[in-house]
Amino acid sequence: MQSQKKHPQLYSFEFYPPKTPEGAASLQIVQDKLAALNPEFFSVTFGAGGSTRDLTFDAVIDIQSKGITAAPHLSCVASTKDNIRAILENYRAHGINNIVALRGDLPSGMMSAGEFRYANELVGFIRQETDDHFQIHVAAYPEVHPQCANGVEDFKNFKRKVDAGANAAITQYFYNAEAYFYFVDACEKSGIDIPIVPGIMPITQYSQLFRFSEMCGADIPRWMRKRLESYGDDRESIQAFGLEVVSTLCQRLLEAGAPGLHFYTMNQAAPTLAILANLQR
Ligand code: FAD
Repeated sequence: MQSQKKHPQLYSFEFYPPKTPEGAASLQIVQDKLAALNPEFFSVTFGAGGSTRDLTFDAVIDIQSKGITAAPHLSCVASTKDNIRAILENYRAHGINNIVALRGDLPSGMMSAGEFRYANELVGFIRQETDDHFQIHVAAYPEVHPQCANGVEDFKNFKRKVDAGANAAITQYFYNAEAYFYFVDACEKSGIDIPIVPGIMPITQYSQLFRFSEMCGADIPRWMRKRLESYGDDRESIQAFGLEVVSTLCQRLLEAGAPGLHFYTMNQAAPTLAILANLQR
């Protein structure tokens, strides 16, 4: 973890673009609350195959107009180079200079007709087209990406993104701090010294978290699963336990020198604010 200690500890918050006027209004309130914490940036997700292209753009411009740094996510699966070039140019013209570069996932059964296969190709393309304009953030998987056969290959693939020009990484969420520490040590041994920012998923309910974790390859440790299952529909107990566990995780990560935390807010302020209030900093 030594090399991570030189990076400042900053917070960032991730949102999905709202689809309805009600969603947009409620997101404004959420973002105002989180903006008070002086975040490094707010990021906005991008639907696979460009399905939220305009919504993501609008949400990003709205954030930027409030004086907060905005980092749009951009996934390349099923996209052409012309498509991506146009999006990059549009962001550049609007003064956006952070981007989260991803491959994305196509809905099952859909074939990709795109010109990019993996995120490292997108990172290389962004650098080729726009030089050093963008700070490029990429995804990292301390618990191994679900489609990769093993951790060694997955790590090599992560390094390709760094070699292609990524400036920082945000991890998939995890609840095993050791997986993160091991991943960061592997980075150090490979000469990777960009910030590897832990992605934090607050726990507010169980069934959706369980389904989502199965899909994205995030492990919910057995002791946590058993405890969460035992609460059944008792949402209050789930939230109290989740708050305790995730606050302790965050505290450990920061004490060990993690370069900040990136919160998957799910467009809610309260769970993230409660965790941050618990951190003794
Ligand atoms: P890659 O780095 O391309 O990796 C994908 C898989 O391919 C891995 O198994 C890897 O080992 C393998 N691989 C990579 N490169 C090579 C190569 N050159 N040769 C062979 N194999 C290779 N999804 C969205 O649709 N929209 C979002 O906004 C979004 N935001 C995200 C934000 C974060 C912080 C994270 C962690 C994930 C996000 N995702 C998002 C999900 C992400 O798109 C998926 O996890 C996707 O499956 C992989 O994307 P990636 O950029 O990590 O892909």
